[in-house]
Amino acid sequence: MASNLIIEDIQIEVRKKKIKNLYLSVHPPDGSVRISAPLAMSDEAIRDFALAKLDWIRKQQAKLQKQVRPEEKQYIAGENHYFQGLPYVLNVLYTGKKQRAELKNGQIELYVRQGSTQEQREKVMREWYRSELKKLIPPLIAKWEEKIGVTVNFWGVKLMKTKWGSCNPRAKRIWFNLELAKQSPRCLEYIVVHEMVHLLERHHNKRFYAYLEKFLPDWKECREELNIYL
Ligand SMILES: [Zn+2]
Repeated sequence: MASNLIIEDIQIEVRKKKIKNLYLSVHPPDGSVRISAPLAMSDEAIRDFALAKLDWIRKQQAKLQKQVRPEEKQYIAGENHYFQGLPYVLNVLYTGKKQRAELKNGQIELYVRQGSTQEQREKVMREWYRSELKKLIPPLIAKWEEKIGVTVNFWGVKLMKTKWGSCNPRAKRIWFNLELAKQSPRCLEYIVVHEMVHLLERHHNKRFYAYLEKFLPDWKECREELNIYL
């Protein structure tokens, strides 16, 4: 059975079930709140529990609200596209020569065939992002190879759906998400350092975070910034 509990401006759906413990959850996309409670638990106890968790609930709701869903880009003139953490207006130009994109006069100029489709334009933009990342990443790797004292054998850039980077410590191979081209320079550097620290410690354990803390004391802010997008 379900009932509603209202605390301040927050509405909580309470479901009593044959369970042993209380469960509290905040659900996307609207941040609705649900509590599953044991059948025998009193409404007062549930209310006390929710009250104690109010700050946490608000935090979760704020997080969901902030979450930016990448809108579908159409690659038409006037659209905003991000590069290195900044928005640029897209200017679309037609060319019979090589299709390309470049940063010019504070805009991203996209040179494509007349009548090109959204997918074709997207592909040209992605190639540009890829080539920019391939210029931005090597100096970062060189800098951190020295500081961390590790060697990267191979690295590449590819589109990833769920993570910003991945590292195979045994092969010393690192992949970076193409979407990093849109993020700020310090977020890009954070991912470079994060993946390279995996060459010292494979797992996300205490030792790993101690290294991160040592090399990049503001890594948590970068992680939060990136969490908004992935
Ligand atoms: Zn990691």
